[in-house]
Amino acid sequence: MTRKNRTIRTPDSLLEEKLIDQDDLTGVREVAEHYAVSITPAMQQRIVDLDDPVGRQFIPSEAELITTPEERADPIGDDPYTPVKGITHRYPDRLLIKPMHLCPVYCRFCFRREVVGPGEGMLSADEMEAALDYVRSHTEIWEVIFTGGDPLLISPARLRPILAALDAVDHVRTIRFHTRVPVVDPGRITDELVETLTMDTPVWIVVHTNHQQEIGEDARVALRRLSDGGIPLLSQTVLLKGVNDNAEALEGLFRTLVANRVKPYYLHHGDLAQGTSHFRTSIETGQELMRSLRGDVSGTCQPLYVLDIPGGHGKVPIGPTYLRTDGEAHQVSDPWGEQHAYPPRTSDDT
Ligand SMILES: *Cc1c(COP(=O)(O)O)cnc(C)c1O
Repeated sequence: MTRKNRTIRTPDSLLEEKLIDQDDLTGVREVAEHYAVSITPAMQQRIVDLDDPVGRQFIPSEAELITTPEERADPIGDDPYTPVKGITHRYPDRLLIKPMHLCPVYCRFCFRREVVGPGEGMLSADEMEAALDYVRSHTEIWEVIFTGGDPLLISPARLRPILAALDAVDHVRTIRFHTRVPVVDPGRITDELVETLTMDTPVWIVVHTNHQQEIGEDARVALRRLSDGGIPLLSQTVLLKGVNDNAEALEGLFRTLVANRVKPYYLHHGDLAQGTSHFRTSIETGQELMRSLRGDVSGTCQPLYVLDIPGGHGKVPIGPTYLRTDGEAHQVSDPWGEQHAYPPRTSDDT
């Protein structure tokens, strides 16, 4: 499909560009009252069929109006860990800074969908200074993680002083950006941005991407530019029904990432965000998929399958497990499901 070179943000332009039908308009308008819509030109170009792995992630649907009892407005419990505006400090050695509440695209399954979107943009200069002061005064903070919204929507000119302030903090030894920009809006990855991200304190980038169909030639160029700039690249993927909940899709994605210098880091189990039950798989499905990758796909292509425990209790790996211990005896499953005994500990072990 050929579409105009502009970002789609309204139900009417979704209809104009034939991304929804006339019949969908009323429902989609209702969805758009609750949750922001945005599809960049790069992602419009990657949509081949409306219900393909890219279309499903970005085109709003009436299914988002259905909320199930277990779903929550704050699914991973950011709120109780917010000491100052824009910061989530849950783990002792690292914290999140959310400098901006806008994204280049609004994923229909976003776990922060109640708080990101038009209305609130950047933190004010005073709020940013208060966030930086919090980092300066907490010497246990080893890593600062920018997330959002999408922090790489911030221009290099505005990022530079923020990063310089953190670079000057002795106890902050590494900085991380979680972003979708290199894939969904790759034109923003300019030499000027790469230069801005290059300083004494290492900057790592975690790219959010869920299907290889998202990764066009322009995204490959953007990833190459970041990598050539010396920035280590990781990825995070959300396991999504109808998008990537099959072994071929995950294998294709993780191989594509490694072939583009990106190490798959996390595969997230879908969070209990409101109106997203049509995207959630069971944990058993996720474990089965991870099991199918192990052994058949390079170890470099294996992310860790994690659950962010609802209520703010942190992220943990949720399997599958390969070791079973019965009394002192270990049984280990190989990648193909065959069981092997491993000797129990000897009296010499401490
Ligand atoms: C996910 C998350 C992090 C980062 O966790 P890692 O396991 O280090 O990637 C940090 N803080 C909060 C509040 C988070 O939700």
